[in-house]
Amino acid sequence: MSFPMTPAEARVDLSAIRENVRQLASHAPGAEMMVAVKADAYGHGLIPVARACLEAGAGRLGTAYIREALELRAAGITAPILAWIIPPGEPLEQAIGGDIELSASSLSAIDVIATAAAAVGGTAKVHLKVDTGMSRGGAMAAEWSALVQRALRHRAEGVIEIVGLWSHFACADIPGDPSIATQLAAFDEALLIAEKAGAGGSHVIRHIANSAAILTLPQARYDLVRPGIATFGLSPVPRLGGFGLRPAMTLVARIALVKRVPARSGVSYGHLYVTDRETTLGLVPLGYADGVLRHATNVAEVLAGGRRRRIAGRVCMDQFMIDVGDDPLTEGDEVILFGDGSRGEPTAQEWADSLDTITHEIVTRIGSRVPRVYR
Ligand SMILES: *Cc1c(COP(=O)(O)O)cnc(C)c1O
Repeated sequence: MSFPMTPAEARVDLSAIRENVRQLASHAPGAEMMVAVKADAYGHGLIPVARACLEAGAGRLGTAYIREALELRAAGITAPILAWIIPPGEPLEQAIGGDIELSASSLSAIDVIATAAAAVGGTAKVHLKVDTGMSRGGAMAAEWSALVQRALRHRAEGVIEIVGLWSHFACADIPGDPSIATQLAAFDEALLIAEKAGAGGSHVIRHIANSAAILTLPQARYDLVRPGIATFGLSPVPRLGGFGLRPAMTLVARIALVKRVPARSGVSYGHLYVTDRETTLGLVPLGYADGVLRHATNVAEVLAGGRRRRIAGRVCMDQFMIDVGDDPLTEGDEVILFGDGSRGEPTAQEWADSLDTITHEIVTRIGSRVPRVYR
């Protein structure tokens, strides 16, 4: 492998992403796939990841914001894209002009979209979202019928097209959670209401499944599935294992400084680590500004010189230290923070477990200073 010398880089294996997409598709036969590429494709790089997913057979992409969807369009990607968080002031007219599909969760949202469509003389493609029990986006059950009726009125005016009916799970990553069955029943009820009102039909896409649901709830596939984290090879339900997915990201850094220090040396801010003997310390040029969470202080492990080493002392903004004892270590040596585990390095899952978080946060927090390198 020949990579340019950078202090640190996130290597992204696009073939792993393509494999994961194909594997996820095999779990949802007959359903379309919309890969969630929000937040710079979970930190893996929006455009290269989007292209890899489409190459591997995904038909659609999903983003949180219109801005992200427009970036995909600017890169020449023509696949259908849905943007689902639409605060006031978003560039709706530009989105409609760019053929970005939009989610609507309220009467005011559908009205604003309709007005924007009329202003550009176009038709907005809309996915109506129902809240089936997450209490986040989506119309409450009591308002669902009115939202459907309003959408139908705008459709009759020719300013909107109802492309999808959708919802999102709160606890799909907790197999057996009673809320899952409750949400599915509420979704079916909402679909029935929409269909009876005339907003259904074979061309309207029904969708609710995230990664966890794709892999554990066959009854939640409907017409389309929306994988996010599993695309990147990270398990949506870690206690059920890795589902044969392949982690796509390896985060590496090169040792910037090596030094011998005496016993009882306090290391980094606050002296939260103190050497117990004369030892060799190495400086790793990545810090919390790059997504190495400050909570990783004295907790998370990296692979250096073929062995696991715990972070020694406070993680700083741009750097942290490791203690390698009397083992050889040279400036420029590669340190692996996490990868697929095949070389003995920690995985993003291990980082998440040791920091009491989920892998989504580990990978999306990798900062813009860390170049993404593809192979
Ligand atoms: C992020 C997101 C997904 C993907 O979720 P994962 O748990 O990462 O698979 C799917 N749908 C919506 C609406 C999302 O916001």
